[in-house]
Amino acid sequence: MKTIGLLGGMSWESTVGYYRAINEGVKNALGGLHSAKIVLYSVDFASIEKLQREGDWECTAQILTAAALGVQSAGADFLVICTNTMHKVAPQIEKAIDIPLLHIADATGEALARRGIKKAGLLGTAFTMEQDFYQGRLSRKYGLDVLVPEEEDRAIIHKVIFQELCLGKIESDSKREYLRIIDALAVRGAEAVILGCTEIGMLVNQGDTEARLFDTTAIHAEKAVEYALNQ
Ligand code: GLU
Repeated sequence: MKTIGLLGGMSWESTVGYYRAINEGVKNALGGLHSAKIVLYSVDFASIEKLQREGDWECTAQILTAAALGVQSAGADFLVICTNTMHKVAPQIEKAIDIPLLHIADATGEALARRGIKKAGLLGTAFTMEQDFYQGRLSRKYGLDVLVPEEEDRAIIHKVIFQELCLGKIESDSKREYLRIIDALAVRGAEAVILGCTEIGMLVNQGDTEARLFDTTAIHAEKAVEYALNQ
C-alpha cells in the first residue's frame, strides 16, 4: 500500500471527511484492521483565506508548496490537496515536488465521463465557479459543458461556504437555498451537479434531491484509495 499525502485544513472540517472516507475505503478493500497510511499536513486556514480575499495567490502557492515538500519528505508517495479552490495553485505545487499529484478536477472529470455526463452544474467558491483553473480543465480534458449558478446565487453559495460550512455550521435555510439552486441548474439542462467544494457534502447529499450529485470529497478520497492500493 502506498502512503497517501494529504494537504488539509482547507477547511479542517472537510479534511475530517477525507480522513474518514480514505480509511473506510482501505478498510472495505482490505478488511479487518487495515487502515490507510497517511501523512497529513494541515494548514491554518485563516491565513490562506485572507490571502485568497486579497488575491495573493502567489503567497498561497508558497505556503502550500512548502507544506507539500514537508509531506513528501515525511514519506508520502503521492499528494492529495483537500480543497477544490486551492487547485488554482496546483501547477506551482506540482512543479516543486517529485511525487505525483492526484488532481481533484481529474478525479471528478473521470467520474462524470464514466457515467456519460456531458453537461454538469458546478457549485463551489466564487474562485472555483468563476475562474478557468477548474471548469476549464473539466471542459478541455473531459469535454464537459459546465453550468454555474446565476450571479446572485453564486454569492449565496460562496457566503455559506466561508461563513457557515468552514466553521462547521449547518443551517436549514442554507440547505433550502442550495437545493433551490441545484434545481435551477437541472432546469437549465444540467444532467448532474458537481459539489465542487469539499465542505458542501456536509450540507446536502444525494438523499436530498433527485438531481445526480457528484461530491468531490468522496470522489477524490476514492481515487486516493484506488491509487494507494492498485498502482
Ligand atoms: N474546501 C473548499 C473547496 O473545496 C473551500 C475552502 C478553500 O478555499 O480552500 O474549494
